[in-house]
Amino acid sequence: MSRILIIEDEESIADLEKDYLELSGFEVEIEAEGTKGLERALAEDLDLVILDLMLPGVDGFEICRQLREVKNTPIIMVSAKKDDIDKIRGLGLGADDYMTKPFSPSELVARVKAHLTRYERLVSSNVRENAVIEIRGIKIDKTARRVWVNGEEKNFTSREFDLLTFLAENPNHVFTKEELFRRIWDMDSVGDIATVTVHIKKIREKIEFNSTKPQYIETIWGVGYRFKV
Ligand code: CA
Repeated sequence: MSRILIIEDEESIADLEKDYLELSGFEVEIEAEGTKGLERALAEDLDLVILDLMLPGVDGFEICRQLREVKNTPIIMVSAKKDDIDKIRGLGLGADDYMTKPFSPSELVARVKAHLTRYERLVSSNVRENAVIEIRGIKIDKTARRVWVNGEEKNFTSREFDLLTFLAENPNHVFTKEELFRRIWDMDSVGDIATVTVHIKKIREKIEFNSTKPQYIETIWGVGYRFKV
């Protein structure tokens, strides 16, 4: 469930916003004081912040500025003065949206939903970017489950892919065949640790220039294998 923090010192407005957002299925908390609001926005794992401009303690300008230095949490700024909204827009503090009070609660809910959707898309696209491993000419796209060796795509079976990815994600760590079998194959898999040897051989044929002199997956005699970096 998405968590929203309302930083607002006018209790009736904060309560109204909270009621409508909770009816739409959000988890909502209110903070009435600026300094505490800033602390919480920085420390907590929030999905969106609704930020009033004029607050006791630190004001909305400053909260927005400091929060933006470290986090991309969507911020909707609200103010009773249209002039202030124009001013903060001009300052480019990095708020995602601006609303002039009074506004209809359903309008607020609609904008909150729009920003959350956009933010989730942004976050998940970052995750996809992070799911690529690149080591000395080998590129493994974990999301698409595809592998390239020096720019040329190679086909791997599901187990080969899992085994290669596991070793590449733990570079220079030596694993015994037993460990690898336990981690990559299901407990009820047919086969034994000799399966690991067979799969390593097949992976080498695809990624190594000379599979008798492997540059990536090394055999540590009497112990097991490691992905060398
Ligand atoms: Ca206020």
